[in-house]
Amino acid sequence: MSDRILQDGFSRRVDYLRMSVTDRCDFRCVYCMAENMQFLPRQHILTLEELYRLAQSFVALGTRKIRLTGGEPLVRQGVVELCRRIAALPGLRELCMTTNGSQLGKLAAPLFEAGLKRLNISLDSLDARRFRELTRTGDLARVIAGIDAANAAGFQHTKLNCVVMKGRNEHEINDLVGFAIDRGLDISFIEEMPLGVISEHSRADAFFSSAQVRERIAERYTLIDSTESTQGPSRYWRLAEAPEIRLGFISPHSHNFCATCNRVRLTVEGRLLLCLGNEHAVDLKQVLRSHPGESGRLERAIVEAMKIKPYRHNFALNDEVQVVRFMNMTGG
Ligand code: SAM
Ligand code: SF4
Repeated sequence: MSDRILQDGFSRRVDYLRMSVTDRCDFRCVYCMAENMQFLPRQHILTLEELYRLAQSFVALGTRKIRLTGGEPLVRQGVVELCRRIAALPGLRELCMTTNGSQLGKLAAPLFEAGLKRLNISLDSLDARRFRELTRTGDLARVIAGIDAANAAGFQHTKLNCVVMKGRNEHEINDLVGFAIDRGLDISFIEEMPLGVISEHSRADAFFSSAQVRERIAERYTLIDSTESTQGPSRYWRLAEAPEIRLGFISPHSHNFCATCNRVRLTVEGRLLLCLGNEHAVDLKQVLRSHPGESGRLERAIVEAMKIKPYRHNFALNDEVQVVRFMNMTGG
């Protein structure tokens, strides 16, 4: 196992990589994408082999956790095989995935068998019509069948991700908590982030803070503050009524989590994004394609990139777009 580590200019150890394996998706969630999206041409995106090579270099540089995301990672052909190869890299502790769940009915068991350890599954509504409205194309029954398939396949500590929007799904918060309890899943509530231009609602008007979510939950359950951490931006609470599950809150507006940031993101175009809320990036595809087979060069480029990782994001609560790329390009 490698004893090398990646460190940024603020002495933060970077050992977590989120890799986008596609910008495409079968959904068009209102907070994430425009209705008519232009996706990248095939020649611009990394091949599965290039994605593997990058994962290999990051793990050689001390990366301990990789999360595959997108777009919808499960619409990329060959993703199960990619999981198998990445999961086998010596030194990697955990390979996880964030998915909308639509393909889990058929893929949960092969993914588990391939070595994927944990899933985050997005779920913003339990009402089929509203679910369709929020995702524009999604089928709730299929996603719920996917969640059940993940449980049946043996995945543990699966987490639901819910973006809360005032007037759109905030009245479902406690039903979603109830759903998580029934299925033994953790659940995180996320404040909407200003990534990409969206048209369906005003982000400022739809803002519903994590504190407001907790107030809503306290109407039905007893919340217990917890000091647990998964080294991510989530802060955790437990419920007296269901202590086995964790409630997470990701609050980019109301609680800045940058000081302990340990992660970087790779877009499927091969751009290494040093911060979710800033444009600082390095083109690793160019390094890969101009010097094929030279892993030393790629690793040097990654080490150098750490020097430009910004200290923090500065999301403001208004409708100005602060980062023009959409979340599907960022690798959420
Ligand atoms: N397609 C997969 C999914 O939906 O889980 C993975 C990619 S998606 C971009 C990753 C996560 O980002 C999802 O949980 C989604 O809800 C969240 N997300 C997307 N756009 C967001 C935004 N503008 N603000 C906050 N969260 C967002
Ligand atoms: Fe697709 Fe996930 Fe974005 Fe929804 S949040 S449009 S499922 S990438």
